[in-house]
Amino acid sequence: MPTPEDSAAGQRRTDAIGALIASKSKVDTFSLPAKFARCLPGALYQLHRTSNGGSRFTFVSERFINLFEILPGSAGRDAAAVFDRIHPDDRAMVEATLEASVRTMQPCHFDYRVILPIRGTRMHSTVATPEPAEDGGIMWYGHVSDVTGTDQTRDHNKYADILFAHSSIGIIVTDADNTIIDVNPAFELITGYAWEEVIGQNPRILSSGRQPASFYRDMWRTLNETGAWVGEINNRRKNGEIYVERLQIKVIHGDGNNSKRHVAFVSDITREHQAEATMRRLCSIDPLTGLANRHVALEQLSLLLDQAQRHEALMAVLVVNLDHFKTVNDQHGHQIGDEVLISVADRFRSIVRDFDVLARLSGGEFLIGIGGISELEEAATTADRLIQTLAEPIHVGELQIIVTPSIGISVSPSDGTDLTMLVKYAEEAMYAAKADGRHRYRFFSSAMHHRALSHARLSERLRKAVLHRSFELHYQEQVNINTGQLISFEALIRPTVAGLGSPGEFIPLAEELNLIQPLGRFTIEHAIRQMASWTKSGAGVERIAINVSPRQFVDPQLVDTMSALLDETGLPPTAIEIEVTETTAMHDAEEAIKLLRRFKDLGVLIAIDDFGTGYSSLAYLRRFPIDRIKIDRAFVNHLETQSDDVEIVKAIISLAQAMKLSVLAEGIETEGQRTILAGLGCELAQGYLFGKPKPANQIAFLPLTSNSSPNGGMSWTSH
Ligand code: C2E
Ligand code: MG
Ligand code: MG
Repeated sequence: MPTPEDSAAGQRRTDAIGALIASKSKVDTFSLPAKFARCLPGALYQLHRTSNGGSRFTFVSERFINLFEILPGSAGRDAAAVFDRIHPDDRAMVEATLEASVRTMQPCHFDYRVILPIRGTRMHSTVATPEPAEDGGIMWYGHVSDVTGTDQTRDHNKYADILFAHSSIGIIVTDADNTIIDVNPAFELITGYAWEEVIGQNPRILSSGRQPASFYRDMWRTLNETGAWVGEINNRRKNGEIYVERLQIKVIHGDGNNSKRHVAFVSDITREHQAEATMRRLCSIDPLTGLANRHVALEQLSLLLDQAQRHEALMAVLVVNLDHFKTVNDQHGHQIGDEVLISVADRFRSIVRDFDVLARLSGGEFLIGIGGISELEEAATTADRLIQTLAEPIHVGELQIIVTPSIGISVSPSDGTDLTMLVKYAEEAMYAAKADGRHRYRFFSSAMHHRALSHARLSERLRKAVLHRSFELHYQEQVNINTGQLISFEALIRPTVAGLGSPGEFIPLAEELNLIQPLGRFTIEHAIRQMASWTKSGAGVERIAINVSPRQFVDPQLVDTMSALLDETGLPPTAIEIEVTETTAMHDAEEAIKLLRRFKDLGVLIAIDDFGTGYSSLAYLRRFPIDRIKIDRAFVNHLETQSDDVEIVKAIISLAQAMKLSVLAEGIETEGQRTILAGLGCELAQGYLFGKPKPANQIAFLPLTSNSSPNGGMSWTSH
């Protein structure tokens, strides 16, 4: 049953809705009393009970006549015409209610039956407020309506009211504009918002921002199409806390215009969600080690694989099996075996990154997934570290136990993209590692294994070579394209030991292994000293070009090193040109501008190497303090056969001319290429046509005869 609190709350609601409607419509209802009375459902009346006990209606609205089927004017003479219509069985109740109202001077509300000449028995419901009349009697201001046949409905309404007030499910009612017109106490409890705080608001005040706009778009589409929507949603309580609610919305259409309503039922299911998550976690972990189990590991691996595919990266699956683990169990018992497994899991945990996958499959077998890697070697390095981390014995009580792993590795996409197969391949590779003598790792594909091994070997060789400075510089001439006159040399590094490959191979590796700084210093030092020596001997070399790799370029000490060497050798800074590749300069153009400026301030010249192979922004190119562009060999190669390349080179040269930069073409091998480039306005040339890179001691500078050089001066030759 509704309690007094309910009716107080009901009153609060009615007042607020009234205020809301008034504020929305702003209609002066008193200016149209007749129409108002006509349109009002039911009828209005003023009933006057005089001090001598007589009753008459001093005002009735049009409908009143109709409701009681009386003659117009008859009620004004004597209320008896109306009271006579009341069912005999209900008359005493009506009298008593009115009497009580007189006594208490409180509004009265009662239902009664009437017997009408035309429509027979009907049910009326009336509400009236008493006020003292001037003559000492009472005046009721009332409203009456026909509610016949609605007993059941009213019962329903009564129950609905009780449900609304007492339900533990939050209820929100909104109008056609989705403005909240009512909420129940459960809603207040769930959201922390009081009734009056939300009336007139849009339910979006509860939005947590966790659902994308598309979520709400879909919800409204479903609501509009089907009239209902059910789902789970994250919302925010008044205190800012996010909670999960199960939300069920229904669209309700009334009879009249603008009678569309949305009724939303809200249950707070945050606890259920948390419990579910805990259950899921409990079911997903290996209780012994706390690692994921096979089932979860496969789910996580599949996410990792998706990610790797999206980013075009590699993903490695490692199956790690502890060698002879059964013996540990057999010798020391399962309890010790368990302790060993816990320690192994802890050590593995410290190696595997948070976003990788680490699981125990069974007994002494673990599954590891490494995502987002760009090189096979990263998988090999992880395998190495897993082996290393078990090198130290595991202490269990007094015991010191050493376990060794055999590891199999498969890699996606090269070994496929099917997860089950990848795990199977990794297992096969693990068995291969066991067959090879255990305590080692093996890649599933032997080609990969060799590649990973050769990378490891190459790294080792490079480390040694850098340590022992087993390098020398070769110099390649840069000449005037028209006259062949020597202008400068480019210093190119060469290893003096076998097995390191070309600079194109070992320089990126030196960057990866952090060996580029000592290697770079070697080049700069030797090149500048060589240049100083040529200058001293009057060889007529204007400058030396030195390649600076991307990592070297961002080293703030590079400028200082160069400056110190210039001071030491007494060379002018213009005797040095640094070559930075287009890709390096454009990688972080703003930063590059700053760094290039430091070189410029020192006075050295700057060339952009391999121009045309990277991506250049003209806007930046204009801001780079550069002196020269070196057209990449790729465009020079096919100049004689491909007209497209001629067009590109032509464009680069005119761009350089517009920017007042000089142009050098790299990799010229034929006279035909030289002629075309000279014809296009290129000034400087470099390539096998003029000479291959060679050690300084194989370069001889000879005085030119007038036959060999049109411009006279010094020339050079190889031994
Ligand atoms: P790069 O700076 O573009 O050097 C030109 C490369 O083209 C050199 O290869 C050179 O030997 C080769 N070359 C020159 N003329 C011709 C030709 O007519 N035909 C052909 N086929 N090749 C020609 P190298 O010496 O193997 O160097 C490759 C790259 O390694 C260089 O490209 C440069 O980026 C880098 N590099 C070389 N030495 C160093 C160094 O000391 N430090 C740094 N950081 N990078 C270096
Ligand atoms: Mg270069
Ligand atoms: Mg180049």
